[in-house]
Amino acid sequence: MYTSLTNQLPTSTTARPNEIVPEQQALQANQPLQKLYAEVVVNIPLNKIFHYSIPTHIRDNLTLGMRVKIPFGNKITTGFCVGFTDTPSPYQIKDIINVIDKTPLADYVMLKITKWLSTHYYCGWGEAINAVIPPVARRSVKEKEALFVTPCDALTKLDQQTLSQLKTRAPKQAKVLEFISEYFQEISAKELIQISGCKMPGLRQLEKKGFLAIQNKPQHIVDTTCDSGPLQQHLTFTEEQQNAFDIINRKLEQPKPGVILLHGITSSGKTEVYLQTIAKVLEHGRKAIFLVPEISLTSQTIQRIKARFNNVAILHSHLLGTFHYSQWNDIKEDKVDIVIGARSSIFAPLKNVGLIIIDEEHENTYKQENSPRYNARDVAILRATYENAMVILGTATPSLETYYNTISGHYEKIVLSKRIGNQQLPPIEIVDMSEEVRKRRGHHIISQRLSYYMNQALSRNEQVILFLNRRGFAPYLNCKRCGFVLKCRKCDIPMTFHKKLNTALCHYCHAETPPLESCPDCMAGNINYRGFGTEKIEDEIIAKFPQYKILRMDSDSMRARNAHEKALTSFERGDVQILLGTQMIAKGLDFPNVTLVGVISADTILNLPDFRASERTFQLISQVAGRTGRGPKGGRVIVQSFNPRHYSITYAAAHDYDGFAKKELEYRKQLNYPPFGKLARIVFRSQKEDKAKEKSFVVAEKLKEITKTNGNQLEILGPSPAPVTKINDMFRWHLLLRSQSHNHIHDALQKISDMLKPSKSVQAIVDVDPYMML
Ligand code: ADP
Ligand code: ZN
Repeated sequence: MYTSLTNQLPTSTTARPNEIVPEQQALQANQPLQKLYAEVVVNIPLNKIFHYSIPTHIRDNLTLGMRVKIPFGNKITTGFCVGFTDTPSPYQIKDIINVIDKTPLADYVMLKITKWLSTHYYCGWGEAINAVIPPVARRSVKEKEALFVTPCDALTKLDQQTLSQLKTRAPKQAKVLEFISEYFQEISAKELIQISGCKMPGLRQLEKKGFLAIQNKPQHIVDTTCDSGPLQQHLTFTEEQQNAFDIINRKLEQPKPGVILLHGITSSGKTEVYLQTIAKVLEHGRKAIFLVPEISLTSQTIQRIKARFNNVAILHSHLLGTFHYSQWNDIKEDKVDIVIGARSSIFAPLKNVGLIIIDEEHENTYKQENSPRYNARDVAILRATYENAMVILGTATPSLETYYNTISGHYEKIVLSKRIGNQQLPPIEIVDMSEEVRKRRGHHIISQRLSYYMNQALSRNEQVILFLNRRGFAPYLNCKRCGFVLKCRKCDIPMTFHKKLNTALCHYCHAETPPLESCPDCMAGNINYRGFGTEKIEDEIIAKFPQYKILRMDSDSMRARNAHEKALTSFERGDVQILLGTQMIAKGLDFPNVTLVGVISADTILNLPDFRASERTFQLISQVAGRTGRGPKGGRVIVQSFNPRHYSITYAAAHDYDGFAKKELEYRKQLNYPPFGKLARIVFRSQKEDKAKEKSFVVAEKLKEITKTNGNQLEILGPSPAPVTKINDMFRWHLLLRSQSHNHIHDALQKISDMLKPSKSVQAIVDVDPYMML
């Protein structure tokens, strides 16, 4: 039934060297002696190359990867030159109007990568180029300015009466004042507007009243530290680290070093191995890209890199949205040795890349959720093949795709099985919450076990981390009498009550509505605030442990810039004893005084309709558990669950990754899910439900026809309503394509490309190797 393991191509890791050769030939073949016609792509969701003739006076100025101004339909637009030809298409050929750039924005490697993106992830080549070249690189402004807001002294004299008056008159302005009096430092106007919902005129009014000052300043998005201060020495490796490093070193000597999985348990010293490998690569005169799941959550790692090396550029695309032009140029002009950044940094214009490190390679933040829907890990492997670089995938909990690639021999695996200083992994105890309900005759968010251990740790001046993957206060508001559930009007999703904001929020479209006093449906019932999120846990902890300080870290409480660093510093200093948070606190944190981790509910992800639910549950428990037992005082983990016997939880409790992976791979194989079968998902969105449904059936029929004539290489699952049937007033139907090989999926998508063109009534969204299944 299945092809043998050695015949399997790398799976989710879709970078396949055998695909590269034809593309390379195609690109090279496109370089005739005479540049008569240019091949141009434009930013549209259509994988098509257009031909334009090149007027003689610009022929010498135009090279691959430059932008050109072209007539397009009845408009003038910008396109990217991706090739040259002497034999144009038979259609009427128009002239290029002019060449925009003096130097190419995309080099040869980037053109090849974007070409691959367009085929693999089903998008336009122009769309892919557009997505990987940040807007600032396209502008010729040197220093982009933005408005910044600074608090003024009048704020300190702000009294409650003025504030409450403002609350009724201009609630959003009041929000600004509340926020900024607490934050009390400079913030970009854009960020402040995002946080408060108050627009620019509102901010100007507050400025007039003397509460704020608003100024135009250069925005610093990329922070390159060329600081030549004293650098820290490398640590002396442990035996295990040394062995790992020796293997890596030998591989680095090879012409094609390939991919290494560094499978090291939490706190086994992976970062030290990365750092010394980077040093080695720099010694060889080459450069490194270091990808992290999210910049703002990895400040500890970034500090460690900056302490060892000069010429480090950190690319933030986070709040201000774009890369800084001059810094982008610094990277392009070879002034930088190491680029650190989130997924889009894989496209950094660094030359001579010898090493790409992907820290926490299993994280789903490496997958981009809009077009091109690429996975940076997979792009990294492709880029490394083109540049003969090494890729190191580091994690304590490898994705099943990566793990499978080590079994099939595509990647080399190096294991770090011991914690630094021979610390033990913390014991993990599972608390059966249904038992707890029975024993205590009712629901309690904090079990007796967890409460007991919290008291013990806190009374010994140790610290506690509590984890819950759900923000807000209560995820459901329903009527006790008629069962009505408050749902978003635009999305088929219950609204979450946020107590601090005193509002019910839709976590999909951000719609807000005032909380309900009584049921709007039966007009009689009282409203029940059901379930719990981090805000409710915070209240509960404050009530139960009033003598200790708690800090909540979730996307609601951590909106301001530097909020993470500030929060973590106060936890590190011990000002705060209990840190409560969402996945934001699950990874990377290294605090030796944390002796207890409590997972409030292991079930939040387990219950999602997603074939990766077990994998993600296992990963989260292992990662959160890794935050404790890092110091001499040891540690302990309590996991609360209504599914205490689920294998993802029991294997995580036993610290048995291999056991879990073996079992999960069996299931995946039975069900033909990745890493075995390859998937593509098509979502059909429409304002009219029947249109979305109708289209999904028409497309499914066509696909079934295609696969019949093609030896049934493709399975079509669905169509069915998507698990979330409506988002932002758009109804959603979806179907899945599954096949043993991506090629069959690509072929089928190409054959139905006419049907997938956006129309007024229905949009089709294609997601190859999907992560989001909702
Ligand atoms: P991981 O990335 O595997 O979770 P870290 O690299 O964060 O592990 O290492 C855990 C801790 O051990 C860190 O505080 C780090 O500074 C320390 N450490 C790592 N390697 C060594 C070493 N060889 N000697 C001493 N301390 C080390
Ligand atoms: Zn909504």
